[in-house]
This record gives sequence, C-alpha cells and structure tokens, in this order.
Amino acid sequence: MINPGGDMAKGRRQANRGGSTALRRFAFAVGLTAVGAVAAGLYEPGADYAGPAMILAALVLIFALLEMRQGGADSPSDFSLFGTAGPLLWVVAAWIFFRGFGTVVPQLILVPVGLIGWLAISFPLQALLVPFLAVIGMEAGLWGLGFQETAGLAGNLVGYAAAGAGLSIFMSSKAYRRRMRKALIRAKRDTASRQYARDLGLFADMPGILNVLPDYDLIEDPEAGSQPAVESITASFDLQLELIRQTMALSTVALLWPDPEGYEYRLRSIATIRKDIAPGPFPVGVGITGALLGAEELVGLAPATPSLGVPYYLKQTEVGGILAVRLPDDADEWLGFDDKKIAPVLCVDRPGQELWTEKEKETMVLAARKLVLDVTMGRQFQSMAHERSAIQRVCFAMRELNGALGLEQVLQATIKAVRTLVAADFISISLACGKGHCVALAEGEGAEQLVGREFSTEEGLVGQVLKINRPLPAKSQCHGPTQVFGHDHLLIGYNSLLVLPLQKEKGEAAGALTVAVKEAKVFTKARQEILELIAAQVAVKIGLGHAHEEINRLATIDGLTGLINHRTFQHGFEVMLGREERRSGSLSLLLCDIDHFKKINDSHGHPFGDKVLREVAGILRRAVRGVDLAARYGGEEFALVLEGSGEKGGAQMAERIRQEIEKMVLHNESGPVRVTLSLGLAVYPEHGADKECLIRRADQALYRAKKQGRNRVVVWREE
Ligand code: GH3
Ligand code: MG
Ligand code: MG
Repeated sequence: MINPGGDMAKGRRQANRGGSTALRRFAFAVGLTAVGAVAAGLYEPGADYAGPAMILAALVLIFALLEMRQGGADSPSDFSLFGTAGPLLWVVAAWIFFRGFGTVVPQLILVPVGLIGWLAISFPLQALLVPFLAVIGMEAGLWGLGFQETAGLAGNLVGYAAAGAGLSIFMSSKAYRRRMRKALIRAKRDTASRQYARDLGLFADMPGILNVLPDYDLIEDPEAGSQPAVESITASFDLQLELIRQTMALSTVALLWPDPEGYEYRLRSIATIRKDIAPGPFPVGVGITGALLGAEELVGLAPATPSLGVPYYLKQTEVGGILAVRLPDDADEWLGFDDKKIAPVLCVDRPGQELWTEKEKETMVLAARKLVLDVTMGRQFQSMAHERSAIQRVCFAMRELNGALGLEQVLQATIKAVRTLVAADFISISLACGKGHCVALAEGEGAEQLVGREFSTEEGLVGQVLKINRPLPAKSQCHGPTQVFGHDHLLIGYNSLLVLPLQKEKGEAAGALTVAVKEAKVFTKARQEILELIAAQVAVKIGLGHAHEEINRLATIDGLTGLINHRTFQHGFEVMLGREERRSGSLSLLLCDIDHFKKINDSHGHPFGDKVLREVAGILRRAVRGVDLAARYGGEEFALVLEGSGEKGGAQMAERIRQEIEKMVLHNESGPVRVTLSLGLAVYPEHGADKECLIRRADQALYRAKKQGRNRVVVWREE
C-alpha cells in the first residue's frame, strides 16, 4: 500500500495521478460502504445478505490490492481525503476477516491489532483519521446492534489503542529513528557502490588467492612488486599532462616531484612541444619552485621574469607566462615531508604574455587534485597487493601443516612451511625433552651431525629461548659464529638468525624453531610476525602429532610387556611372509608358552606373575634382531618370527631362549622363583606356505612339547 521513498515509484505515481483520482474516489466509496456493512453486522456468522456481502468483500480486497500497486498516497504531505482510501480499505478488509472468522478462531483478534500497529508506523497521523473513525464506527455499530458486549467493545478498543500507540511511540523514539536512518543510508550506499563496481567490471577475472605463489620478495619488500602501480600511475600522469597542454594551448606541462629528503626536484612527467628540456634533477627552490616555497599554493606569472623561470628549460626563451601549483596533501600526509611546502609541483608555461585567467587557475588546481588522487589509488593498490601476497604465503604454509598427522610428518611440513616464507639456508626444529632439548629435524649445512643430539637448556640460544619463551636474538641479527645449540656447536656464516619458541597453550615451550639465512636483515617485522604465527601452529601440531603417535603406540603395543600385541603380530607376520615368498627365502615361527604359569600366579600372586611375564618378554626381545618380530601372543604365550632363518637356525635360537629362561632367577618374599618355557617351531616354506598353516603347526609342536614334559623345544613333524 505504501512505498516510502524510491524515485522510480514516485515517477510512476506522478504519471498515474490523473487517471487514478476517479478510481480512488470510487475505492473510498467502496471502503465506506463496507464500513457500513460491517457495522450493520453483515459479516457476523449466520447473517442475511451473504451474497452481496461477499461481493462487497471481494471489491474491498481488489481495491486494496490496486491501491498497494499504485503506491498509496501521492505524497505524505498532500493527504487528501481520498488519498486515505488505501488504509481505509485494509482496515475494512481486516475487520471483515475478523468478524467472519473471529467467533470460530478468537486469536484472529491479532489481525486487526497487528494492522493497526502497522498503520500507525507506516502512515502519518492525518492519513489515519478516516480509518480510525471507521474502526470506531464499525465497533460502535456492532455494539449498538447487539453483536458484541460492552466489555468486548471496550476490550477491543483498548487493544487497538495500545497497539497503535505503543508502536508509534517506539518508532518515533530518537534511538530507533537514528538506527533506521543509518541502516537505510548504509544499505543505499552499499547497493549503489556494488552496482557501480559491477558496472566497472571490478569483479571480473578475480584470480583465486591460492592459485599463484608470489615471489619471496613481495612479502618483505613491497618495492619489488611496485612496477605495475608505478607504470599505471605514470601512464595516467602522462595522459593528463598532455590533456592539459592541449586544452590550455601550452608549450609545456611538467610534473616535478621532490626526492624523499626534499633536496631536489625530479622531472617525473612532461608534455611539451619544446626540444630543449633539461632532464634534471633540479635543486629545490630554483626558479618558479622557489616562489612556491612561500605561503602560496599557486603562483601565476605573466609576463614571466627570467629569474623565476622554469627549471627544466635549457634556454628561458619564449616563456611568456608561467603558472605553477603545489599538489595538495589533504589526504593524510601521504607526501611524507615535514615541510609541506616542498610538495610536488605542477608547472605550465606558454609563449604569450597575457594574464592567467581565474578559469585557467581553477583548471590547474583541479588537475593537481586529480594527480594526487592517482597517487592515492596507486598506494591503495600497492598495499593491497602486499597484503595479498602475505596472506597467500601464510595460507600455503598453513596448508602444508594442516595435512600433517604424525610427528615426523609435522616436522617435515614445518620445514616446508618455513621455506614458503623464507629462503632459509638452515632450519632446525628442537623438541624439549627431559631437562634439555633434542634436535628432531634439521636441514642445511652441518645438519646431519645435529639431528638426534641432545643439549642442555643451560647452553645455547635454543636453551635460552625455551627458558624465556620469547624469540631470540634481538633484531634477528647474527654477527659471527653463534652458539645456537651448545658449547661445542657453532652456527657459522649466517647474518640473519631467528630462534622462535614453539609455544604450547599453557605458555611452556614444546620446542624451538631455528631459521638462519646468510643474507642480512631478512627477518623484518612482518616476516617475523608470520613466522611466529606458523610457530604457534607448529606447537599445536606437535602436540597433536605426539598424541597421534601415542594412540598408534597404544594400538600396537602390549601394555604389560612392551612387545607388539597379537593384532600387530598377525599383520607383521603376514608382511614378512609375503617378503620371503617374493625372494624365495625362509623364516621361523616360534610359539612359546610359560610352563605351569597358573601355579606361579596361584602361589606368588598375580603381580608377581606380571613381573615374570615382563622378564620373559625382556629376554625374548633381547634375543631377536631388529628385523625379527617378538609379540605377546596371548596370556603367557609369546610368538617370535625370525627373518631368513631355516629349521636349524630357528631351533638353535629356540634352544638358546629356553636355556636363558631356565637360568633366570626371580626373587619373591618367599625366595627365588624359576620358570621354564616350552617352544614349538614351524618353518616356512618347509612346514607350511601360509600364515594359518604355520601358526597351526607351531601350535601343534608346542602342544607336543608340553605333552613330552615341558621345558623343551619341539620342531613340527608330520605324524
Ligand atoms: P601349561 O604349562 O600347560 O601352559 O600350564 P599353565 O598353567 O601355564 O597354563 P594355563 O593356560 O592353564 O594357565 C595360564 C595362566 O596364565 C592362566 C592365567 O591366569 C594366567 N595369565 C594370563 N594372562 C596373565 C597376565 O597378564 N598376568 C598374570 N599374572 N597372569 C596371566
Ligand atoms: Mg597357555
Ligand atoms: Mg602355560
């Protein structure tokens, strides 16, 4: 019904105005008729004249919708009587609905209450007079004709008044209005600028941030990536200068830019028809630039005097008039000079001696402002490119780290992550262990001798960093050989060095990351900040890596004996069998069982039984080589897989183990305790080709060993 604001809607309304007046009168008449009908009780359930009442209701609805399409009243300030047809029709429609169904669903009272609230906040007060009177009329009529009780009438009116008044007061509160106005302005500005950006094609061809890895240089040295910005600024300058020269019929338009110290001017851009141009640089204060050192922003000379000529001509001939303007620095001291008067200068001249007109001076000032704007945009472009490359690098490094799970993987990923940020000559990761630290991984000169070495926290930079939990050395500079790890180890030949703590949540460092570069001054503030970010991430990942390894260990190792568990044995045995199969080798499987172990438990207690298990496991572990498997097969049973060993070797090993166990003496309160072991041996490929068969036969051999009196080795034989 109403569409506040919106220029297009207003235009359409204006065009419609002539034709809509008659229609609106008719709509108003329909509304009033319907008010009468409601008041007369035509919409009460079971009332007479149902047919005409329905037609009238349909008309009300149609006109109300038409009103909404038309955009309601022409303008809030010229509310005519008929202009209020819209609110009137909606009020009547709501009442028809409420009266028709209200007795069935009493909650529908919320429809008129809500409508009144909405009207109160959407329309100015004068537009609500007619609908307000209509409400009173309808309610009073219904009461008068006995369709509602006095209490009902009073309740309804109080409800409507409360809804209307409450919402109006809320909406007219200062805070609400301010908030709405702000939101409206913001929304409008946002939509407008988005639209403009789309029109300009600013969103076309946006490259993915992780598609290209920028050069190392860009992250630290913004100047290295400044070429595109400089080129576009220069091109823009050249064009504008030529534009000014041609429109104002000038000999030369030149842009003089001071050096950062403010000693001399450099000729940065020039549009000219003259040939005798001196390339500069020119000392600040020479010729016309001297005149600009005063209070004036703009100096116009006509005729020109030779003492105040333009510095960039070899001969000051045919210079009739000179006009020079300082580029304004109203942004935020982007020029970077303490003395604002030494600013870039836009300088023009022409052969004629006529006075410079106000219009010409104005053009010059405008041109100067435009040049400043170009530089501001270039600076924004530059800082965005710089930020972008930094973010890209961090993302790359994080991606490396995120993929890593185990500790070893995390360490490797850390090195990679650091390498995406710095072209490092030496990187190492030290992990805190016990009272010192241990070099877990290192790359670079001399790294091999370092990996795995332990150092005390009392020596070297890494130890200090672990203690104080802060990066070292100060300024990340390194002069001469440095004790990074310990007394007997020096890092030599690096000029930039940074040792960062790998800080855990609670503040205590999990280790330290050392990065060294031969080049000097590599670790600027920005780079160090990013590396610290990476180090924090690495610390978290190292914690997770430890946890991951612990979980793996728990899943593969038997807690009591420290040998691999049954499941891991099955897998390891399979892998070893496969390998022997491929190279046509052999292997021995030994199943061992402690004799009368139940008795040991019974007479010495379970804890002592556990001790026996650990001791036996220890002997088994020491007996086998690194390539072999020693597992706790179950309860007091163990399994050994001896790589590359045939029947003879297997039996020898079994006998040696048996003897060793036999010799072992354990002590309990009641005195020395001895145990014996029975062993069954099956050999691949002689006794079986697959895992199940070999295990079955080794078990049969073990069973025979038990049957033959225990404490012996039995090699499987066909019976
Ligand atoms: P046999 O010479 O025939 O092998 O006699 P045994 O008593 O060694 O054999 P049995 O299988 O009857 O008994 C094995 C015992 O090992 C039963 C069980 O209580 C004990 N056992 C199994 N696992 C553990 C454990 O982890 N700790 C302790 N203390 N005892 C265990
Ligand atoms: Mg047993
Ligand atoms: Mg046993």
